[in-house]
Amino acid sequence: ADADPATGAAVKAADRAHVFHSWSAQEVIDPLAVAGAEGSYFWDYDGNRYLDFSSQLVNTNIGHQHPRVVAAIQEQAARLATFAPAFAIDVRSEAARLIAELTPGDLDKIFFTNGGAEAVENAVRMARLHTGRPKVLSAYRSYHGSTAAAINLTGDPRRWASDTASAGVVHFWGPYLYRSQFHASDEAQECTRALEHLEQLVAFEGPQSVAAVILETVVGTGGVLVPPDGYLAGVRELCDRYGIVFILDEVMAGFGRTGRWFAADHWDAVPDLLTFAKGVNSGYVPLGGVAISERIAATFATRPYPGGLTYSGHPLACASAVATINAMRDEHIVENAAHIGESVLGPGLRDIAERHPSVGEVRGMGVFWALDLVKDKITREPLVPYNAAGADNAPMADFAAACKRSGLWPFVNMNRTHVVPPCTITESEAKEGLGLLDEALSVADRHTAA
Ligand code: PLP
Repeated sequence: ADADPATGAAVKAADRAHVFHSWSAQEVIDPLAVAGAEGSYFWDYDGNRYLDFSSQLVNTNIGHQHPRVVAAIQEQAARLATFAPAFAIDVRSEAARLIAELTPGDLDKIFFTNGGAEAVENAVRMARLHTGRPKVLSAYRSYHGSTAAAINLTGDPRRWASDTASAGVVHFWGPYLYRSQFHASDEAQECTRALEHLEQLVAFEGPQSVAAVILETVVGTGGVLVPPDGYLAGVRELCDRYGIVFILDEVMAGFGRTGRWFAADHWDAVPDLLTFAKGVNSGYVPLGGVAISERIAATFATRPYPGGLTYSGHPLACASAVATINAMRDEHIVENAAHIGESVLGPGLRDIAERHPSVGEVRGMGVFWALDLVKDKITREPLVPYNAAGADNAPMADFAAACKRSGLWPFVNMNRTHVVPPCTITESEAKEGLGLLDEALSVADRHTAA
């Protein structure tokens, strides 16, 4: 019913007339006109269907158009569509209760935002006020959002254009054995050296001036970097020693992506503040937030918290979070993500890596994987240079185009392709996607030394 190229052309023309797009040169982009979506798929007006191996921006953990979540939004809209944050609203309290129940440790108070960046902004504000200290340490190869503090904390090239006022932000190297900054030869050594590096940084910045260390539990856009065992515990211990607030950013890694509710659960890590968004309600309505420890919440027991948002805890967003979390529980969606990772994506991607000269490393867990593409498996030279653009980026652009032609929608960043389908993906859909990926990688192979 949706296949009507004339309509598709009209939808695209209307977009090009007035919509200003994120992160893009406006006259260069060519956005696909989308007619609909369901589960792991979406389709255009030309009769093309795509298997969504991106979960959009790694947020549709529950897949597209989950009927229970759609119904909850419709019911809430009819009941109470909007209300200011200062009031007690049943569905907001229920969303907070459910999230507090899932988050680790004593992170039992929830400050709601409209997305991930605002969650990070507020977590940093809380840490600075709680400690009375100015500095925040964050990792290179990180992404924390595109608002003022969040983009300064970001450790990838998206920061560069907005780095004029990075007051108090200092970057460090996190563990990444495949491209080790520490000349480490195994995970244990990488872990020890990364912790020593962070401790040196704290010492030279002055521990009494450091409010917080912020980390993505598993680094997302920067390459699905799974921390070695012991790293999160080491950072926790360092923070405790110096009275530094430990913030885990679970905006991308949280709510099932890694095969657990939070990535922190894999290592029993308990931060002081945890930021979330994306998977909390799969982005059906904008929502994010900060889960706050008892100790930090107590800082604002009698002293007002100086921050707020008109739509904090929006009833439609909260209703969709309640429905999402309940559906994820009832339908064992987090368990499915773990199962797909262990029995389909992990083995399938490792097999693909053996057969393709362009695949340097496979890493990940759950439905959160990356292929690190290289020109040469021995030298590990990335298939495209860091932050490549234009002709330099042709190998990755060719590869992405091959995926799309075959009906697979990839998530591509620099020299990597990430495999980040919904947590609801079935075994047969995951296998179908691996088959399409396998074919498209032959295009990347042509750009290798092999
Ligand atoms: N933090 C992490 C780890 C993210 O991956 C993102 C978005 O990709 C953000 C924060 C920013 O979230 P938002 O785009 O909702 O502001």
